[in-house]
Amino acid sequence: MKGLFALLKGLWMTGVQFFSKTETIQYPEAVPPATRWRGVHGLFFTQDVKEELCVSCCLVARVCPAQAISMEGREKEDGDKVLERFDVDLGRCVYCGFCEEVCPVEAIRLTPSWDYVGRDRSSLVLHKEDLVEIGRISMNTGSKKESI
Ligand code: SF4
Ligand code: SF4
Repeated sequence: MKGLFALLKGLWMTGVQFFSKTETIQYPEAVPPATRWRGVHGLFFTQDVKEELCVSCCLVARVCPAQAISMEGREKEDGDKVLERFDVDLGRCVYCGFCEEVCPVEAIRLTPSWDYVGRDRSSLVLHKEDLVEIGRISMNTGSKKESI
């Protein structure tokens, strides 16, 4: 008797689910990520999106636990530093957010972008131009995260 009840209950649940509204979302539609979601990195600019914020201090490369960041800077004649190369290997990154936390000028931020894919390991390495573009798009669309 108990088994029959369980069977009927199971069939009833199946029937309810069969006729209820589907919750599946077709890509590229997506549920917005949580506000604290850590997605693909971007290099950000001043408010007018003209000047890069990064001062090439190399702190992020030192703090990254996965050694996913490598970079090079050059000193200008006026003593300021300019960023020559900035690579983030997403194949190594564990999205811990340490880089975002330590940056003294909030130049690097983890954007809400969640659907970056690569066909091989080399395409998972983002270069400065890619990071700058992501930062620019993020600023223009207003999708940058608030400062942490
Ligand atoms: S999120 Fe973490 S693992 Fe990824 S680059 Fe930043 S510090 Fe490294
Ligand atoms: S992103 Fe921030 S911490 Fe990293 S080198 Fe640039 S200014 Fe320094």
